Amino acid sequence: MKLKTKLRLALTFLFAVIVLLGSLGAWYLKKLSSEAQEILKDNYISLEYVRNMRNVIDENAWKNEDIALFEKSLLYQEQNITEIGEAEATQQLRSHFNAFSKSPDSSRIGLIAKQLTKLTDVNMQAIVRKNEQVKKTADEVYTYMVLIATVCALVAFSFIINFPNTIAEPIQQLTEGLQEISRKNYESRLGVERKDELGEMARAFNLMAEKLDEYEHSSLARVLFEKRRTETIINQMNDAIMGLDENNYLLFINSVGAEMLGLDASQIAGKYAPDVALKNDLLRTLLNEETSPKPLKIFTNERESYFTKELLDVKNGENRIGRVIILKNITPFHELDQAKTNFIATISHELKTPIAGIKMSLKLLENERIGPLNEEQKHLLNQIQDDSQRLLSITGELLDLSQVETGKIQLNFSSIHPQEVIKAATEALLFSAEQKQIELHCQIPADLPAIQADLDKTMWVLMNFLSNAIRYSPEKSTITVEAQVSIDQKHVLFSVQDFGKGIESKYQQRIFDRYFQVPNNGQSKSGTGLGLAISKEFIEAQKGSIGVESELGNGSRFWFQLPLA
Ligand code: ADP
Repeated sequence: MKLKTKLRLALTFLFAVIVLLGSLGAWYLKKLSSEAQEILKDNYISLEYVRNMRNVIDENAWKNEDIALFEKSLLYQEQNITEIGEAEATQQLRSHFNAFSKSPDSSRIGLIAKQLTKLTDVNMQAIVRKNEQVKKTADEVYTYMVLIATVCALVAFSFIINFPNTIAEPIQQLTEGLQEISRKNYESRLGVERKDELGEMARAFNLMAEKLDEYEHSSLARVLFEKRRTETIINQMNDAIMGLDENNYLLFINSVGAEMLGLDASQIAGKYAPDVALKNDLLRTLLNEETSPKPLKIFTNERESYFTKELLDVKNGENRIGRVIILKNITPFHELDQAKTNFIATISHELKTPIAGIKMSLKLLENERIGPLNEEQKHLLNQIQDDSQRLLSITGELLDLSQVETGKIQLNFSSIHPQEVIKAATEALLFSAEQKQIELHCQIPADLPAIQADLDKTMWVLMNFLSNAIRYSPEKSTITVEAQVSIDQKHVLFSVQDFGKGIESKYQQRIFDRYFQVPNNGQSKSGTGLGLAISKEFIEAQKGSIGVESELGNGSRFWFQLPLA
C-alpha cells in the first residue's frame, strides 16, 4: 500500500473516531435531555397543578378566586394526562369537584384530597421510574463511551507507536546508506522490502549504488589500464623519462633512464631526488633546472650516446605539481650530423684544390700570356673570376663550419689591440664598400686596452659583419665601426652599425642558426646562411658573446665582445 494512502487512511480513521465519539455523545445527551424533559413535562407539571389544588383545599376558604384557581389547575391537569391511572383519578377528581361546586360538602373535600393524593402518587411513581430509566441510559452512555474511547485510544496509541517508525526507519536506513556512499562504499544496499514510496526510494537508492559501483569498478579498471599502457609506452621508449613530484620526490623512472643512471627503478621510486643525486653525477646534471642546447654525451650500452634534456612542468591550473625530465636519445641524428660534417669537410677540402687550379688558369688567361682577349672574352673572364672567388669563399666557410662542428677550432690566443683588428678588416672590405659608394666610419678611442683573442678568427667575424653590412646597405650610405670598453669593464665591445633595411625582431635570434636566412631578403641569395653561425662559434670559443640590435627599416647593429687581455 502506498504511504500516501496509509497516511490518508490513518487520518480518515482518526476523523471517523472523532465524528463517531462526537455524534454518539450528542445523541446520548439529546436522549438524556429529552427523557429529563419528559419527566418535567409529564409529571413535574402535574405535581405543580396538584400542589395548587391542594393549597386551595388546605386553606379551606373556598372563595371565588380559590375555586377559579382550583378549576384552572384541574383543567390544566386534564390536558396533561400521561400515566396509567392518572386519567381515572383526574376524572374522579373532576366529578368530586363538580359535585362539591354544586353543593359544598366537607365530606367531598376528603374525596377530592384522596384523588389528589392518588394523582401525586401516580406522578411520583412515574418520576421515580423515569428517573431510573434516565439513570440507566446515562450508565449505558457512560459504558459505551468508555468502551469506544478505550478502543479508539488503543488504536490511536498503537498508531502513534508504530506509524512514525514505518516512516523513520527507512529514512534512517537511507541516511546510513548515503553516508556509506559518501565514504565511497558503493557496495552498500538498502534492504527495504516495501511496496510504498519508501520502498521505491530504497530501490532507486540501490540502483544508484549499483551504477556507482559499476562506474567505480569500470573507471578504476580504465585508470589501471591507462596506467599500464602509459607505463608500457614509457618503458618501450628509447628516451629516458623520469617524473618528480612538486617536492622533488622521484615518482617513476623508465628502464632506459634507470639503466643510464645505473639505478634500480623499483628502489628509487619515492626517494628524495637530491639525496639520490648526491651519489649520482648524471642525476645531478639532470635535476639542474637549466637546459643547455649542447647534447649530453653519455656512455650506455657499451657505446657513446647523445641526449638532449627537456624539462616539462606538470601543472594543475597555474600551480606546478611536478616535473617530467626527458632525455631524448639523439644518437642517430648525431651520427647523421657527424657523417654530414665529415662529408662537408672532405668535399670542401677536395674542392679547394681544383678551384685554386681554376683561379691559376684564370690568372694566366687574364695576363694574356696565351694570347690576347677581346672585350666579350674579358667580360666572361671577369664573371668566371667572380664566381670562382665566391666558390672559394663558400668552400672556405663550409670548411670552417666543419671544423667548428667537429670541435676542431684551432685558437691561437694572443694579446691583440682592437685597432689592429678593425684596421685589417676595414681595409680588406674597403674595395667592396667603395663599389657601393658606402662610407666606412671608424670610432676607436686611442687608449683602448688589448684583448686576449685569436687575431684571424676575430678578424674573420668582423669582416663577416662588415661584408653583411655592405651587402644589406643601400648605395651611398654609411657604416659605422666602433670599439669601446664594455659596461662591466672586463671586455672590449666591437660593433658594426649599418642603415640598411634591418631585421624583423622574430628573426633576430634565428639568424645565428646554421643555414638560416631571413625569408624574402633579396640579397640573401648570394649568401650561405653560415657566416653568423660560424661567427657565434668563433666568439663563444674565445669566451666572448655576440648579438644584434635591429629595427626593421632603420638598420642593424651587430656586436661582439671579447675579454680584456
Ligand atoms: P649570409 O651568408 O646569408 O649572409 P649570415 O649568417 O651572414 O649568412 O646571415 C644570415 C642572415 O641574416 C642573412 O641571410 C640576412 O638575411 C641576415 N643579415 C645578416 N646581416 C644583416 C644585415 N646587416 N642587415 C640585414 N640583414 C642581415
